[in-house]
Amino acid sequence: MILLTDAYGRVMRYLRLSITDRCNLRCRYCRNGKFGQFIPHADILRYEEMLRFVGLAAASGISKIRITGGEPFVRKDCASFLAMLRERWPALALHITTNGTLLEPHVPLLARLGVKAVNLSLDSFDRATYAAMTGRDALPSVIASMDRLLAAGLRVKINVVAVRGVNDIQVDDFVHAVRTLPVDLRFIEFMPMGSGTLWSGENFWPAAAIKEEISRRALLTPVTDNPENAGPARMYAVAGGKGRIGFITSMTNHFCRACNRLRLTSDGHVRTCLFTDREYNMRGLLRERRISDQRLVDTLRRVCSLKPMGADILARRVHDEAVAMRRMTSIGG
Ligand code: SF4
Repeated sequence: MILLTDAYGRVMRYLRLSITDRCNLRCRYCRNGKFGQFIPHADILRYEEMLRFVGLAAASGISKIRITGGEPFVRKDCASFLAMLRERWPALALHITTNGTLLEPHVPLLARLGVKAVNLSLDSFDRATYAAMTGRDALPSVIASMDRLLAAGLRVKINVVAVRGVNDIQVDDFVHAVRTLPVDLRFIEFMPMGSGTLWSGENFWPAAAIKEEISRRALLTPVTDNPENAGPARMYAVAGGKGRIGFITSMTNHFCRACNRLRLTSDGHVRTCLFTDREYNMRGLLRERRISDQRLVDTLRRVCSLKPMGADILARRVHDEAVAMRRMTSIGG
């Protein structure tokens, strides 16, 4: 097997696959205000084209796949697509990122498919704040999905985008959640992606400050995850708690040297790094049956070899400008 590597010696093992840019929420750090256009349907990859890409990636060393969006369950037959992935690649570690508003009915299937973990985007446990941040009063449906996931024995990771002036006044709620729920609650540092989002230097709430706030309320002990579960989050056990707290520090303490991820957007663009809009459109190649899989793999290998070090791009950022312009909802986070 020839692996997908880059000039820094990093090996791609993890594919983030965005199956749609559509979403039923309007999170202010992602799709704020006048959002603009969704990707035309004709440009969105069909499931069999996505499966073709996954096949090439799995044959090149990718062992973990995360299904994202937009909101993946907004796309028709998302559940059947997950089942097809499992059927074709039984060994692939299957993960999902979702806002949880449409998830509940699918929980039994996710358990049957042996999904490794479900990442729930949940920026506040306060109903009014949740509605203000997402544009929808949908917190009860997310909590119901979370309860169903935990009851089914699935691993739940809660993603909280940390925004000063929005959810920084709710630290008690977050601490209460990890005290009472067996979840990994991770604070994600707000990243300047796209235009017209809530991003500003004032809204930026760095992990060190969050950790300090939490440490006033709970004793945190660093934990190291086994490699299988390891990710960018730095995790801490909470004394007396059922859950753990983590910090994803893309802005203040990057993890780019160990980065092993690759992204495929729903319109067939390969994005080797979150922090660059330099993408490689493989949609035409994927749709062209006369193009051999070998030629596709060769192209993918060349693309990966050019993967940048995101932290260097971030460091070159001028003032407060966005580090990349493509919106998170069409990248898949
Ligand atoms: S910024 Fe780019 S290189 Fe750094 S961790 Fe993210 S995707 Fe990887």
